[in-house]
Amino acid sequence: MALIVQKYGGTSVGSPERVKNVARRVAKWKKQGHQLVVVVSAMSGETNRLVALAKEMQAQPDPREFDVMASTGEQVTIALLAMALLELGLKARSYTGGQVRILTDSAFTKARILSIDEARMRADLEAGYVVVVAGFQGVDEAGNITTLGRGGSDTTGVALAAALKADECQIYTDVDGVYTTDPRIVPEARRLKSITFEEMLEMASLGSKVLQIRSVELAGKYNVRLRVLSSFEEEGEGTLITFEEDKHMEQASLSGIAFNRDEAKITILGVPDRPGIAYQILGPVGDANIDVDMIVQNVGHDGMTDVSFTVHRNDYQKALQILKPIQAHLKAREVLGGDKIAKVSVVGVGMRSHAGIASTMFRTLAEEGINIQMISTSEIKISVVIDEKYMELAVRVLHKAFGLEQAA
Ligand code: ADP
Ligand code: ASP
Ligand code: MG
Repeated sequence: MALIVQKYGGTSVGSPERVKNVARRVAKWKKQGHQLVVVVSAMSGETNRLVALAKEMQAQPDPREFDVMASTGEQVTIALLAMALLELGLKARSYTGGQVRILTDSAFTKARILSIDEARMRADLEAGYVVVVAGFQGVDEAGNITTLGRGGSDTTGVALAAALKADECQIYTDVDGVYTTDPRIVPEARRLKSITFEEMLEMASLGSKVLQIRSVELAGKYNVRLRVLSSFEEEGEGTLITFEEDKHMEQASLSGIAFNRDEAKITILGVPDRPGIAYQILGPVGDANIDVDMIVQNVGHDGMTDVSFTVHRNDYQKALQILKPIQAHLKAREVLGGDKIAKVSVVGVGMRSHAGIASTMFRTLAEEGINIQMISTSEIKISVVIDEKYMELAVRVLHKAFGLEQAA
């Protein structure tokens, strides 16, 4: 008998019929004698609908009120799933994040989990109940409802698995595993049998939304056995996120390609080339809680230089406002910005031992006439910023150039 946490995403609970399907799958596991905690997302499209509603009231919705509302989608699906399970003759109970007591900080809309009270869930499991928990939400010390950021139900699933020391955390979604790249963009993409934590972290942080990055971080930190599977297929082993680089993985130079259009680029032209300049520009941006991703500083000439960096598109206008007084103070020539950019990244632990990945990447993009605006690298990834309109083309040609469609 194992203790298993299963998480079902929005599409998997997108209609009453699909909720019933999930119930049947849960029942199958339960009948095999396992203890089950099931985390569900809101029905697909529901969270987007709620976000749009909030924006009709306030252009920038009040974060506390936003969370009160955004968390309601999941409250509907937990009850629906519990009902479907009861209907199948199982014992089931649903809980909101606050009822479990998933305690978070008070950073509304992007709260972090501080602790989880597992007593109530354990008692229910011992008594034979399937425990159904709302994803994406928690409660702060003062009792306010909080949410964990978009895609946060993955993080709820992994956090519960960590707290309960579950044998496995299974993320059921609308694809049957983690692919070499988003199969919606490249139909030839191939499912990976396994991917290392490091690679999955990079893929998630670079834009592959199949797992929310914080769920991967948590799984790594607490040694949670994590697997991505299809909620629509009966069989299939999905993709296991592994701690070890097996031989199989080492042979392949790349595991996947990630992309995202969530960033915007800001360039400050003609700032004095002297110590402390990066700090003077980026310090206030960081102080405003804006994450800076790529940073490029040009070689100075005539005592002047240019600095470019990228931020999340949601923070773009705010960052431009912050830079206005800095521009004046530094007597910088100009601040340029644009949000029509995309970041495309190739990821793989095999990169450590394979030379030539960068040159293949740059040559492939050059052959398509795609201009690279920025480059950043780490030991296991290379990212480039390009014009957004070439993003899908870039992903497709790179996928082909690196032979990712072939079985490794
Ligand atoms: P859920 O609602 O189940 O949480 P998501 O939409 O958040 O599902 O994540 C699943 C989607 O992630 C897939 O439908 C797919 O389009 C996308 N995706 C992006 N990159 C990848 C990848 N490398 N492998 C698999 N799916 C990916
Ligand atoms: N319902 C939330 C969202 O759409 C959380 C999730 O699905 O993981 O972002
Ligand atoms: Mg998701």
